[in-house]
Amino acid sequence: MAMIMRDREKVFMELRWDPVQGEWIMVSNLRGYRPWQPETYCPFCPGAPETGYGWRALILENRFPMLIPEPPEPSRHSFYVTAKSVGRCYVVVESPIHSLDDLSDLPLDDVIYILDLVIEKQKEIEKESYATYFIWFRNKGKEIGVSLTHPHSQIYVTPFIPSKIERELKNAEEYWRKNNECLFCRILEVESSDKIRVVYSSDCWMGFIPFYAHWPFEVHIYPKRHVQLITQLTNNEVKDLAKVLKVVLCGLKILFSKPSPYIMVLHQAPLKGSYSYYHLHIEIYGMFRDENKIKYVAGIETGGGNFTYDSTPEDNALKLKEKIDKCREELIS
Ligand code: ZN
Ligand code: ZN
Ligand code: FE
Repeated sequence: MAMIMRDREKVFMELRWDPVQGEWIMVSNLRGYRPWQPETYCPFCPGAPETGYGWRALILENRFPMLIPEPPEPSRHSFYVTAKSVGRCYVVVESPIHSLDDLSDLPLDDVIYILDLVIEKQKEIEKESYATYFIWFRNKGKEIGVSLTHPHSQIYVTPFIPSKIERELKNAEEYWRKNNECLFCRILEVESSDKIRVVYSSDCWMGFIPFYAHWPFEVHIYPKRHVQLITQLTNNEVKDLAKVLKVVLCGLKILFSKPSPYIMVLHQAPLKGSYSYYHLHIEIYGMFRDENKIKYVAGIETGGGNFTYDSTPEDNALKLKEKIDKCREELIS
């Protein structure tokens, strides 16, 4: 027992390279140090030690980060490759209201405020030498293991390009080289001419369930302008994005009798280097495939890497669009 205790006192964090899949794993034992807290305590509510009072939204350091600015030296191995866990992990506390269910329930101005906050954080951090990638994501729903229900999202500033982004970059570059055009701009064109999978279109953005969706209600939101980073968006594009997010997330909320759990993630270019062939976008994976039935990522998806899709993206887009249209009317009226 004493031995175990002593081992646990040592903070261990490093990146480990998976030479078989060709990707990084973030290893840390920090979470094991999480102090016991009563279930009624919320670290994101106004008045908590890290939040204080008088704010509309906040970006806090994650108290159990996988990446930190000054990490310990990684272990050495004669075969395997390791690296320092250098980076940043933040929590975006999106509202002082604990019981608020989702981003879609916030007034439009508050959603704009959150987007501006995230953009400012990126501007601040992009100068850091370790900052290779800035990934903003949001997990929603206890069905997918979200334990802190206070509305929040997260930011990871990673020293590497996340694997999914790396794959997108590779395919987009290849497509550009062969066709002399942006893959994403082309998808925008194709989806808007097919029309059946489009769930929302505004001045600056288009939301659709792509032809090749993985998740049941997977919505991709593309800016209509060819742009790589959120820091390049105009005020008008940010404002319009806030509207799109509100409406699309509202659609997912009223789609079934219970709000659908989802993951939302921002895909943009890496912070350093030239990626003019890339086109930023937001992906939302609505995980209910039917009334209260969650899509499980099981054998073929996790083990093989390929998704199965029950129903069709076209049918699901039709269902979701109906709800989104309702939300849109409410938002505009
Ligand atoms: Zn709270
Ligand atoms: Zn493009
Ligand atoms: Fe993407």
